[in-house]
Amino acid sequence: MAVYIPLATKYRPQKFSEVIGQDIVVKIITRGMQKNRLGAAILFSGTRGVGKTTIARILAKAFRCENHADNDPEPCCKCESCLNFLRGNQIDVVEIDAASNTSVDDVREIIESSRYKPTIGEFKIFIIDEVHMLSKSAFNALLKTLEEPPPHVKFLFATTETYKIPETVMSRVLKFDLKRIDADLIAQYLSSVCNRENIAASAEALALIARAADGSIRDSLSILDQAINLSVGSELSASDVKDMLNISDDNDAVELLDLLFSANAKNAITKYREIVKGNAIGTKIINSLVDYIHVLTCIKANIPPLEVVVSDDLMPKLMKLAEKISLAAVSRIWQMLLKGMEELKFCERPDVVLEMLLIRITYASGLPDLQELISGIVKNSPKPLAKNEKMPDIVSGRSSESLVDEVLKMFPDAKIQ
Ligand SMILES: [Zn+2]
Repeated sequence: MAVYIPLATKYRPQKFSEVIGQDIVVKIITRGMQKNRLGAAILFSGTRGVGKTTIARILAKAFRCENHADNDPEPCCKCESCLNFLRGNQIDVVEIDAASNTSVDDVREIIESSRYKPTIGEFKIFIIDEVHMLSKSAFNALLKTLEEPPPHVKFLFATTETYKIPETVMSRVLKFDLKRIDADLIAQYLSSVCNRENIAASAEALALIARAADGSIRDSLSILDQAINLSVGSELSASDVKDMLNISDDNDAVELLDLLFSANAKNAITKYREIVKGNAIGTKIINSLVDYIHVLTCIKANIPPLEVVVSDDLMPKLMKLAEKISLAAVSRIWQMLLKGMEELKFCERPDVVLEMLLIRITYASGLPDLQELISGIVKNSPKPLAKNEKMPDIVSGRSSESLVDEVLKMFPDAKIQ
């Protein structure tokens, strides 16, 4: 039986031209390669799965490619050095995960090794993943080498948390911030992978996977891998993907939104519990609400939604919902959803946080808008006071003088200044 290679491994880019969604970074690096203008230390930052280590590895391969030509920045993928990369057998490329090698001794080893020229080829390369995990003393030790790097050494760093890297180190590296990959682009890519793999999948299923991958090509391929197992012999459908990812049905989420707008907390929570009972995950329902609030805001503001996150049959329902609610209320709910998502990070009971959030939203939906309040105040504002007329107390209609008398009775020692 042949060993199964996961899609994320099989389709890991081997050349710059195969990298998806990082065009500008790739353009700068390849031009830098051609003009020999890349420094000794390069840092790739960005969230997980956007291609930081992948680009670092391609760059390392290109630096060491035996057929490397000035007019072509790509590694040839055929020479002995490139093939050794594929076999994971490159003695002059050291790859370290700083998450488990944080100490100053680990870095001293790297520094010691960087003094010696590569066994073969022009460059010795150190790829340090999650570089922000290095200890302060480890960074200090590394800094000396970064200040005067040996000409045969290249440091390629990757990090998800740039702000944890000391400024002294940051100022000595060439920085590339990799962006999250657009869901539409991921869906297109997944479609091309399915074609190559001879897998039938609906466009809606791939769009759902692309959204769930949250900007990461690698995650999208891992999800696709799992989903394919679900649909053996038949087309991969949106409902397969929803079941697998515990995503609520779109109609359920829209119905919940309708109840939230109706300011009926009891019905909204009953519906929410029903959806969760049906195997959907609460936080994913909230993510759907975030998407729909975005779509509703766009409808209210007459702007096309950013991405096709809503299926065609759902759009009329959202258009109808948009008529029920003002732009101000939609913005208020948006703020509350974001705040609720923030609160989720600090609470061990997400179920409680989510229900509290939904209850708050139902009450906020029923509140009048600032505009309505102002026009109400203007309409009901009292006539100006006549001469010698006393200002009435807005709570009970009593004059302010009688209120003072009452307070004095309660606190006989009080003095009115
Ligand atoms: Zn090569």
